[in-house]
Amino acid sequence: MNVFKFGGASIETVERAKNVANIIQDYANNKLLVVISAKGKTTNALEKIVHAYFENEIVEAQSLLNEMIVDHQQYATELMGTSDHPIFNKLTELFTEIEFVFSEPQGKAFDYYYDQIVSIGELLSTSILQAYLEKINIISTWIDVRDILKTDSNYRDANVLWDETERTAKAVFEKEFETKNVIITQGFIGSTDENNTVTLGREGSDYSAAIFANMLDAKSVTIWKDVPSLLNGDPKIFPNTVPIKEITYHEVIEMAFYGAQVIHPKTIKPLFLKSIPLYVKCFLDKTLEGTKIFNTEEKINYPPILVLKQNQTLLEVQTKDYSFITDDKLSDVYELFHKHKLKINLIQHAAIRFVALVDSQKEKLDALLQDLSINYSVKRNENLFLFTVRHYNPSILEEELKNREVILTQKTRQTIQIIAK
Ligand code: ASP
Ligand code: MG
Repeated sequence: MNVFKFGGASIETVERAKNVANIIQDYANNKLLVVISAKGKTTNALEKIVHAYFENEIVEAQSLLNEMIVDHQQYATELMGTSDHPIFNKLTELFTEIEFVFSEPQGKAFDYYYDQIVSIGELLSTSILQAYLEKINIISTWIDVRDILKTDSNYRDANVLWDETERTAKAVFEKEFETKNVIITQGFIGSTDENNTVTLGREGSDYSAAIFANMLDAKSVTIWKDVPSLLNGDPKIFPNTVPIKEITYHEVIEMAFYGAQVIHPKTIKPLFLKSIPLYVKCFLDKTLEGTKIFNTEEKINYPPILVLKQNQTLLEVQTKDYSFITDDKLSDVYELFHKHKLKINLIQHAAIRFVALVDSQKEKLDALLQDLSINYSVKRNENLFLFTVRHYNPSILEEELKNREVILTQKTRQTIQIIAK
């Protein structure tokens, strides 16, 4: 059994959806679990709808929704070659779920509504694609993943209830595989025990694919992207990138952690735990080799791997009375970062000073600073970026840092991290 994940770009247009169906067909003589995201930029559009709704701009929310309805109906009509098909009732039902949220009195937190509304994107795209597979005689089943992937109620960043999900996933998927080879389901979404829909965090479909691969002991996972392979840096930022054919789980998890938007950072662990290789392949040309992410004892020679994280804020926290920042003070400070849900991207500490780099999230930072300023004096330095290079060499640093003001550097044998302006 193998797992495929197709992202929004792979099914953005009708032509691309047909291409995805082609790829599925090529592999459909083996068992295949296909995890799919919302098409194109649907998730962003749904986010706009939630914001309008939550700010009580219901007319605006409804009008944005109407645009989305028309867009999906046109897409489905063109793909199916008709607008007379049961799939259109299903689409209407899904859009009605959103309208139902609009009609209810608002009594819950934003994140709850976000998940109820934004999750519809994946339900739409998978329903349409599975109807098309059936039309071209690829035998398949559509599964509502919310019946399987159970989580806590940490909306927008839900945590998977592993045992419960594993039990159901095995039972449901294995039963379906008895009679057909292809299962289509949604990435990114799940549900709580009370059957409220949740999401796993933006770009979470990669993670969904990895979760099921782990639970079902898949032979491999393939993430189909619009690039020929993984590169050693984001080509939109770095001009001279080179492809990477093979890379270890460890290397990828570090890249993702430092901010490379290659693969959702939570994807690697479930695959690592079962040594399931992850392939990144190009849906625009399926004959290209792509990248293999796996475990190996052999030494891989990497090019310098470049990661840039923008919108960073540096906080310098200093004790007011010149007492040392030792264990108890340090855990105090950490506790406050944790309380305000600010993940530290880099730290350094000295006798009476603690320096931390975090993403610039204004509300959270303001609240943190208020708490910190009781016992510490705090300086805040905005608009920075964090530049990380693994397997660095002097020339790459010189090249990338010319005309930059370097504020802080940290290095180990393999990794150099630079905070700069
Ligand atoms: N559709 C969701 C997003 O755009 C999930 C995903 O693409 O993985 O964030
Ligand atoms: Mg997406």
